[in-house]
Amino acid sequence: MTRLYNFCAGPASLPDPVLATARDEMLDWHGSGLSLMEMSHRSPEVVGVVQRAEATLRELLGMSDDYAVLFLQGGASTQFAAAPLNLLAEGASADYVNTGQWSKKAIAEARRFGRVNVVASAEDSNFSTIPPQESWQTDPGAAYLHYTPNETIGGVEFSWIPDSAAPLVADMSSTLLSRPLDVSRFGVIYAGAQKNIGPAGLTLVIVHRELLGRAQPLCPTMLDWKTAADNESMYNTPPTFALYLAGLVFEWLKELGGLAAMEAINRRKAGALYAAIDGSDFYGNPVELPSRSLMNIPFTLADPALDKLFLQEAEAAGLLNLKGHRSVGGMRASVYNAVSEQAVAALIAFMQDFEQRRG
Ligand code: PMP
Repeated sequence: MTRLYNFCAGPASLPDPVLATARDEMLDWHGSGLSLMEMSHRSPEVVGVVQRAEATLRELLGMSDDYAVLFLQGGASTQFAAAPLNLLAEGASADYVNTGQWSKKAIAEARRFGRVNVVASAEDSNFSTIPPQESWQTDPGAAYLHYTPNETIGGVEFSWIPDSAAPLVADMSSTLLSRPLDVSRFGVIYAGAQKNIGPAGLTLVIVHRELLGRAQPLCPTMLDWKTAADNESMYNTPPTFALYLAGLVFEWLKELGGLAAMEAINRRKAGALYAAIDGSDFYGNPVELPSRSLMNIPFTLADPALDKLFLQEAEAAGLLNLKGHRSVGGMRASVYNAVSEQAVAALIAFMQDFEQRRG
């Protein structure tokens, strides 16, 4: 069996030990004679798995009990609607920061449910910067302030947490669990699982309990965070197998030494890849230095006519999914937690070899 190096932006690499455990437990989970997939979500076995996953996640993030952890479905895209539906009372407005394609989608969806004030936009710089907070035109009466700490497509990331009097709502799909996080600075954190959390099909929402119970009257029961909080994410059938895998990912992170240890590895990986890009005239990355993403690293070739060949040869060398997002072109290496330092070293060696042969 050969496991190739996978730089996909999502669904992304999962840790080998997690997949191996899932394989070993697939047909007969812990001597039960059943696969976990085949069990009632209300069985003590599955409830135990979900509770353990939540406890490990709380431990990793050092999160207080003031926050509810919700395991939902529908992806981060559903939370683009859930945020205004849960937090925007009639006539109220919300502040949004626009730093790229995912911010824009969140803004467009929120506009369907209430008034949105775009406090700052990096569109003028083609989303290669993060607008400094001094320049933001925030509304003192805003119900919340929404931002996207890491733009998966543009590869631009906040290296700081905004100060906000209004509850801070963050789409952390492509950065959560890549490093330690002070959850207490946030009102709501949400993320699709398919980057650093687990497989697609699971959506994580972390919400301060004070913000529950404020949903607009028309908010569907399934989108009201309070429904999930009151029912421990079991109002309906949750994605049990995805939750089981997420729990294994959380345990893998804990064994590795937690989020501080993960951050050190991620900084080495990103540092090495950016150094290779910056050290060559053949490769480029347009993002301003302090706002470069640790997780998603776009790069271009000086001659875009070589893009196709680069991707073909990379694939032949076992380096998969390096094509940039269709909206920006070029290449993108997503180096989430489960992408190893060896994978990044192999990519850098390939890039240098390609440049020597074709540059
Ligand atoms: N926000 C960000 C930052 C993302 O990277 C993605 C997915 N790539 C989404 C939202 C949409 O997530 P989903 O597909 O889970 O709806």
